[in-house]
Amino acid sequence: MNRPEQAVILCGGLGTRLRPLTDNLPKPMAPVNGRPFLEYLVQQLREQGIRRVLLLTGYRGETIREHFGDGTAAGVAISYSHGPTEWETGRRLCEARELLDASFLLLYSDNYAPFSLDKLQAFHMARGTTVSLSVQPKAKANIRLAPNGMVKLYDPTRAAPGLEFVEIGYMIAERDRLFSAMDDADASLSVTLRTLAEHNELAGHVSRDPYHSISDLDRLVVTARYLAPKRIVLLDRDGTINARPPRAEYVTGWDKFDWADATVEAMGQLADRGFQFIVLSNQAGIARGMLDAEVVDAMNARMRDELAGRGIEILTAYVCPHHWDDGCECRKPAPGMFFRASAEFQLRLDRTVYVGDDPRDSEAAYNANCLSVLIGPDRHGADTSDAKPARTAETLLELVPWLLSRFEEWESVP
Ligand SMILES: [Mg+2]
Ligand SMILES: [Zn+2]
Repeated sequence: MNRPEQAVILCGGLGTRLRPLTDNLPKPMAPVNGRPFLEYLVQQLREQGIRRVLLLTGYRGETIREHFGDGTAAGVAISYSHGPTEWETGRRLCEARELLDASFLLLYSDNYAPFSLDKLQAFHMARGTTVSLSVQPKAKANIRLAPNGMVKLYDPTRAAPGLEFVEIGYMIAERDRLFSAMDDADASLSVTLRTLAEHNELAGHVSRDPYHSISDLDRLVVTARYLAPKRIVLLDRDGTINARPPRAEYVTGWDKFDWADATVEAMGQLADRGFQFIVLSNQAGIARGMLDAEVVDAMNARMRDELAGRGIEILTAYVCPHHWDDGCECRKPAPGMFFRASAEFQLRLDRTVYVGDDPRDSEAAYNANCLSVLIGPDRHGADTSDAKPARTAETLLELVPWLLSRFEEWESVP
């Protein structure tokens, strides 16, 4: 169960719900902001350390092969296994068996979600299952999970009660055990996944950052908006935009709000280059009765007004009002406010940076699959953890050139 080095993408389907776009194009080649959707997946895999990609092609597979070739331009080695359009997904995998690594990452070719191969691999190793899927909560779902992440029921008909999650692809599979569980090589992969669930051999790794799909024309429009480059930076408030109050004390009124001048200066420089901002702030003082929620809102409104007067746009300011004992999904280091930003602004979290002053800020960003930078006196607190920030500095001003080059690099790739 080594960390997968090979990714396999199911690219053979007809894409009937994308017609007329797919009259002449295979679905994974659907144009998204001037690039085939599949380029975004291949780039994502490259960024996750995958160096070899196997594309299982079918319908109009030659179009895919002509575009990607051996993968040199995409920075990964790409090979192909081609079969007739009518083959089911199980058959495509079987026919490619000789080309598969012992452990491989398997993707559908119509979903995008930020993911971490390291996190998925750790989850997979801990459970020792044949397949570990990435799953998301959804109203119309096909998966029921146990609290420990094991799939209790996998129902492709979506008819059973108590189904809460849907798989989005991004699964780690153990080749030999997968084929042992495959009764009918001509059937869809979902038949084998159902069998695996029945034998306690299937696990589901939950992500709550909304995934995006190109499965129909309406979704394609939303997905294009999501995948379009944006210059949006996420920021903590206390200790980052304004001076930090003493621990367990709160900024209780505008008269106690002291601007962190270097951050404001940095935000101004970024705003001049087209950046906007979203603020994510823990305010447990509200739950503790030491801070009035309306006062916090009024302070944030005043902060936004004054920054707007300097040409700096804060798109919104999210606040977690909960106590640390409440177990909410929004108090950092939980990633709930990040996912809200992702949903409300079609913000791709693997293409932005969170700025904070507390190691828990970096932890929250890590939990959201987002980069972080840490400023201020505690900036080295997360250096030895998985949540290590991408950069640290005394003030944000020193990091403006790095931020600019980071975003420019992102804008140059899918
Ligand atoms: Mg702070
Ligand atoms: Zn909360």
